[in-house]
Amino acid sequence: MAIQRTFSIIKPDATKRSLTGAINAKLEAAGLRIIAQKRIHLTKAQAGVFYEVHKERPFYDELCEFMASGPIVVQVLEGEDAIAKNREVMGATNPEEAAEGTIRKEFALSIGENSVHGSDGEDTAKVEIAYFFSGLELVG
Ligand code: GDP
Repeated sequence: MAIQRTFSIIKPDATKRSLTGAINAKLEAAGLRIIAQKRIHLTKAQAGVFYEVHKERPFYDELCEFMASGPIVVQVLEGEDAIAKNREVMGATNPEEAAEGTIRKEFALSIGENSVHGSDGEDTAKVEIAYFFSGLELVG
């Protein structure tokens, strides 16, 4: 399996509860190296652009409001099969359905405030990384 890069966000519900370190420990334990990371605070409009793919869904406005409600930590993760591996460590979108040991099972508050984001494919990973990071910020 090839070495891949994926994009990750530690969401406002998690930064608010000082869970950045605990979440990073789970990512690193799974073999995902954090090759770029920064803490930022999005505007609702910036969150809206990031989640544009969900524009037609009923929770879009709530989601953008939430993502702009506090600081987030944006990251680039690198490792073997990193996209699928990160999705596995994250767990299901709804924490009630997430497997034991996953980030969402352990930390998420609800289907909306679910602590982390992870790219779902190679094309999305590229677009999402480029939205937040310049090439110079990716230190492998
Ligand atoms: P993910 O890839 O597992 O993050 O899930 P999706 O791509 O389906 O949804 C993106 C994000 O929208 C999720 O991580 C949640 O934060 C949010 N979301 C998804 N479904 C719901 C919902 O039914 N209600 C609310 N409030 N937010 C949701």
